[in-house]
Amino acid sequence: MTGKSEGLERAVEAISVADLIVVATGAGMSKESGIPTFRDAQEGLWAKYDPQQLATRQGFREDPARVWGWYNYRRGLIARTEPHAGHGSVARLETLVRELVVVTQNIDGFHQQAGSTDVLELHGNINRFKCLDHDHPIELDVPIADCDGPLSPPGCPFCGSPVRPDVVWYGEMLPPGVLERAERLARSCDVMLVVGTSGMVQPAAGLPLVARSSGATVVEVNTDPSHLTTQVDVFLQGRAGIVLPQIVAGVERRKASA
Ligand code: NAD
Repeated sequence: MTGKSEGLERAVEAISVADLIVVATGAGMSKESGIPTFRDAQEGLWAKYDPQQLATRQGFREDPARVWGWYNYRRGLIARTEPHAGHGSVARLETLVRELVVVTQNIDGFHQQAGSTDVLELHGNINRFKCLDHDHPIELDVPIADCDGPLSPPGCPFCGSPVRPDVVWYGEMLPPGVLERAERLARSCDVMLVVGTSGMVQPAAGLPLVARSSGATVVEVNTDPSHLTTQVDVFLQGRAGIVLPQIVAGVERRKASA
């Protein structure tokens, strides 16, 4: 038996007997759908901007059209693509185990689209909107533009401040209650399956460490070693769209033979 299949067996075993599984996902989870990570996304027209300009309050205040245009471009990408086999496997796994919660850093809504029913969005959702100054929630039917250039945001109908995507930018707090629930889940889960995150963005990056120190088995799926890899129990190197279906197939086999 090779190291990789031993790791897979260990992951399948831990997942099969777990009462609570947390699947913690990052940008790498959506990469096979064609959604670039922030770094990958800074191509072409956007290459000259860094995340400090595109994903901070200050960047938005300095140039709202630049940031709104970039998010509109990303919304267009998300609208034109769809969840892949890995998202489907997470939704399928939910039906095979006692309790499974997805805790995601992604803002694309793909887990819900694939059928996962309990998804905690740490960083918000790109298809929700609020105003900059007062967080007034805004219902907006923003046309999906093909244009990937600057675009002026509409004004809030209540206070006039610019409308922004309801996502968590660098330096902002997570929505009330969200981090608390994520930490509770990390402390009480039996298995945390960490998929496609570099483990560099806090506070999400701390959750696997909380889980491990609380006694959970931490399994990581990533194409490359991350900042978390040395601290997990099982590292499964590979693409989410390949490895997650393998895990689910293993759990299904175990169930069938039990
Ligand atoms: P990251 O870009 O820092 O790291 C991505 C990780 O995914 C890397 O470790 C990489 O090796 C791995 N990876 C790449 N392709 C993979 C694949 N096919 N299968 C498995 N792993 C793969 O992403 P992060 O850790 O999520 O942090 C970046 C921040 O950017 C987050 O705050 C997130 O909210 C935001 N973001 C979200 C989206 C989205 O909603 N889809 C996209 C880009 C960025």
